[in-house]
Order: sequence, then C-alpha cells, then structure tokens
Amino acid sequence: MKITSVESFILHVPVTGGGIADSTHNISHWGVVGAAIQVEGGLTGYGFTGTHAYLPGDQLITRCIDTCLAPLLLGQDARDITRLWQTIARNPALQWIGRAGISTLAHAAVDVALWDLKAKDAGQPLWKLLGGQVREKVRAYNTDIGWLSIADDALVAGAKSAVQQGFTGIKVKVGSTVERDLRRLTAVRHAIGPDITLAIDGNGKWDLATCQRFCAGAQGLDILWFEEPLWYDDVKGHAQLARSSSIPVALGEQLYTTDAFAEFFAQQAIHWVQPDVTRMAGLTEVLRVCDMANAFRLPVAPHAGDMSQVHVHLSYAHAACAVLEYIPWIQHCFTDPALVVDGYFRLPQLPGAGTTPTVDALARYRQPVA
Ligand code: MG
Repeated sequence: MKITSVESFILHVPVTGGGIADSTHNISHWGVVGAAIQVEGGLTGYGFTGTHAYLPGDQLITRCIDTCLAPLLLGQDARDITRLWQTIARNPALQWIGRAGISTLAHAAVDVALWDLKAKDAGQPLWKLLGGQVREKVRAYNTDIGWLSIADDALVAGAKSAVQQGFTGIKVKVGSTVERDLRRLTAVRHAIGPDITLAIDGNGKWDLATCQRFCAGAQGLDILWFEEPLWYDDVKGHAQLARSSSIPVALGEQLYTTDAFAEFFAQQAIHWVQPDVTRMAGLTEVLRVCDMANAFRLPVAPHAGDMSQVHVHLSYAHAACAVLEYIPWIQHCFTDPALVVDGYFRLPQLPGAGTTPTVDALARYRQPVA
C-alpha cells in the first residue's frame, strides 16, 4: 500500500434553505476541504475537514496538505496509520507553526483518507475494522430544525415535523437573549411533549452570569445538555457552570487535541463529550478521546454525524457513543451517504469510511485549490 499521490480538493455545498445562523455563525455554504490519497494499484482513499466555505482559508488548508503533508506521506505504507499520524503531528517544523488550527484541519483530512483506504483495502465498512457493531442502532437527533435564524412559529412547526418523521431527539440553538430563548424553548417543549430529548446549543456566545441566569430559568424544560455555553477553551468557566447548574454541559466540537479534552475531564467541566474527526487530527485522535470518555464513564455525542460521514461508523463501533447529530447538508455528496431512517442512522454497507465524494459532487461544487 505504497502511497503514490496526495491531491487536495475543495467543495462548496449550499446549506438548507439558502443560509442559516446560530449565535456566532452565519453561513450559506459548507466547505468540504479534503485529500485524495492514492496507493500503488490505484486504490484511492478520501478524507476531508469542514469549513464555512471561506475560499482563502480553505486554500490555506489545501496548500498545507499539498506542500507540507504530502511530502511526509509519499512513498510510505498507507497501512501505518498510527506511525504516519505521529510523523505529521510530531514533525518539529510543523508543530512549531501550529499544534492547532489549519495544520490540524489538514491533518484531519489525510488521517481520515488513510482510514478510508485501510477499510477499502480490507473490503469492509470502517465500523467493521474498528471492532464491529456494538449497538443495534445509532439514534439521530435533529439540529437542522433548530437554527437561531428560524422564526418562532417555524421552529415549533419544524420540531413537530421532525418528531413525526421519527426523530426522538432535537437540538435548538440559543444565544440571542435569555428571555427570547426561554420563550422559544418553552413553546418547543410544549409542542414535542415530555418523551423527546431536547438539547440546546449556545455556540460559545454567552458569559458565565448569562448562562447561569438562563439555566435557572430553564429548570423545568428537561434539557438534555447545554452545548458550548461559554467560550470554547474556558475550562474554569465550564467547571463553574457544571457545579452551579443541574443542566449537563456538552462541548468538544472546537477542541483540537486530546490534551484539550483531558483538561475538561480533569476539572469535571464536561458531561457530554463531542469530538469531531474533521477538527481534531482525524479519527486516530478522536478514538483516544472516546477511550478517555469511556474511562470517565461519560457519553460521547460526536459532532455533526452526516457532515463527517466517519462519525456514523464510529458511533456503531465505539462503546462510549450514545447519540449522533443530524444535519443533512452534504450527505448527497457521497457514494455511501449517511442516511437517517425513522430517526436512526442506517448502518453503512460499502467498503471504506463513507467519505468518497460522488463524481457529480466533485464536478458541481469544486473550487480552485489555489
Ligand atoms: Mg454545536
């Protein structure tokens, strides 16, 4: 499995309804910024990171893949995933310029491409390689009905519609004003009844005092978790919130390393663990976080299930995974799409990690890499 070529690509895919907003992001397209790694014999593995389709930034990632990572991979055995992870993550010149950020996003794309290659070479879906199926079904929760940019009436209608489609969990964005968000959540809880799980996501907008005021007002709403209530790296603030409220804290989609997660674990600042293979340095690093969560007896809810594709495989194969997010923006771009049927993710069937883009997606959404 000698690596013969590494090629980057950029796709910009329109999101639901022309655009969405949460408390900190306002986007019209999702960026799929990836690497295609080919080995002797012609087999090709695909991996990608996710962006807000900001082309100059996306081109920094592809430049990192093509000029910094490709030379470390060419001629190497693609099966040596851990060794190659270490070669990239602990390269002295690379770690000097970025132990997090663009270099990690680029690393994510190539690490996932190597896992895709390994599974394709074995002729098996990735979940099989990760040790096999540990649960019969992976429950999906719907985030796409809950954007902050959705008007109150449409939010309630969307929540009811999701439940009718079979979803047993939804997530609603917060982070506008405490009063408006409590009003919206009360209406949603009333509409969906007591048996549907209701999570919320602040996307790091509020300060501690605002979060505590919100949590006091939300006591009767049976909130499954409060995601990213505070700034992403604020371990002390999350620990204080976790101690002062009965609403569990969820976070992780903005963390780049196992070390970052370890600090939240050590300070008891996290209840739900949300790593993302497209932000951390690929599946290799996310598996370490999942194992750590397992040891701490904390559930994992990987970030954005269908937007990584890989998280579906992970959720079927890892004991710590409990539930998976549904945001279907890019699922149509892949040959083995992460589909949800009656509220549960379908078990992937094709060999690989599910990350192979369709010919149509590569043609329709492609942007220049430089
Ligand atoms: Mg989130």
